[in-house]
Amino acid sequence: MSGGTGSGVGAVAPAKINLALRVGARRDDGFHPLNTLFHAVDLLERVTVRPSAGPADAVEVRGRDARAVPLDRSNLVLRAAELLRDRAARREFSPVEFLIDKAIPVAGGLAGGSADGAAALVALNELWGLGLSRERLIALAGELGSDVPFALHGGTAVGHGRGELLSPVAAGGTLHWVLLTDPRGVSTPEAFQMFDELRAGAGPASPPPIPGELLDAVRSGDPWAVGAGLVNDLEPAVFAFRPELEELVARARLAGACGAVVSGSGPTVACLAPDSAAADVLADELRSVHTAGDVLRASGPAAGAAGA
Ligand code: ATP
Repeated sequence: MSGGTGSGVGAVAPAKINLALRVGARRDDGFHPLNTLFHAVDLLERVTVRPSAGPADAVEVRGRDARAVPLDRSNLVLRAAELLRDRAARREFSPVEFLIDKAIPVAGGLAGGSADGAAALVALNELWGLGLSRERLIALAGELGSDVPFALHGGTAVGHGRGELLSPVAAGGTLHWVLLTDPRGVSTPEAFQMFDELRAGAGPASPPPIPGELLDAVRSGDPWAVGAGLVNDLEPAVFAFRPELEELVARARLAGACGAVVSGSGPTVACLAPDSAAADVLADELRSVHTAGDVLRASGPAAGAAGA
């Protein structure tokens, strides 16, 4: 951050894993209706914002995959600033500059960009003294993208529609994860396009429900029951692009994971361990198998975007 004026306001926001992702048929407007079970994990993005002396909003990005993040108006933190100026009807809010510290892989299926958008909403609400409630911020977040409301909400929640309509689920315990990242990201639109091709017009128009057994498992906090219930309808499409990920899911199970699943449109594979110590062992084991990307530890549920 250079050339800014005044002190910054910071916020953090979590990555998400889809414990379930059920997908219906493509609608005429191009979207696929979803039923998903979001789970926030403590892999946190940090966004700092401060007034800028420059002529326009600007963003600097550091950390993981920083060079893959767009610096133009498509960046979700810049879109968050535009949205709040628009909705607060206060066009006179002076330019700001953002610093994003990335921990979440870009295009990894963990909604890192959405976490940045959520953190930006929280930080700007504070910087500009807007006094918007969390409920109002969550409603506004839906205009930035379908995963942004959950990045504000955090915890574990069922998402409907495009994923933006949230119903919280009270999780019964901490889940310990090993995340296998892959530098070759999967484009979400391409994954959905492949999903359409594979379905070839067959399959249900409405997304299948989240399995009741999985919801019960999350409420009870039993990692083996959660692991057995992990489901992602996009996996066949993602595996069509990246067959080695199917192998990775199988290897994780053999290595002692309670379950493993591609998160969202991938390519990150989320492996659930029975407990924290077992997750460390699993991570060590998978490091020798998974050399294409990183092996990260995380746990959830984590809180939603908050000032920091
Ligand atoms: P999604 O499933 O929402 O596409 P993802 O979790 O697979 O997301 P993200 O890291 O959120 O992946 O990035 C998706 C795309 O969003 C990136 O390729 C990038 O072009 C764009 N993007 C916009 N703002 C950001 C940001 N602040 N950080 C990362 N990517 C961003």
